[in-house]
Amino acid sequence: MQKGSCHCGQIAFEVDGDVSQVLECNCSYCSRKGYLLWFVPRASLRITSSTDRMSTYQFNKHVISHHFCADCGCAPFAFGVSPQGEETAAVNARCLETVALDTLTRIPFDGRSA
Ligand SMILES: [Zn+2]
Repeated sequence: MQKGSCHCGQIAFEVDGDVSQVLECNCSYCSRKGYLLWFVPRASLRITSSTDRMSTYQFNKHVISHHFCADCGCAPFAFGVSPQGEETAAVNARCLETVALDTLTRIPFDGRSA
């Protein structure tokens, strides 16, 4: 189980599972945010804080809800539906508390051309 949060801590969460590889997408949004995305079933992520300060950004086809903290601006996760129709959470590994980012295998994803 991994714990994560935004910078100021108003959004906190727990995720079941072990992160070993992350997807590094080059689309216009992910490249600006610097996301390192770890995909898990939506049910594996539990928000353990209030969501009062959680804002949502959507673009393009509006199928992914990118959640971020309205105060500190950090974006710990996004929710969407996989191509197989499963409710999915994309966790930003940069917002996990105990993960050593340099140990993760980064898988490039060409979202810019998608
Ligand atoms: Zn925050």
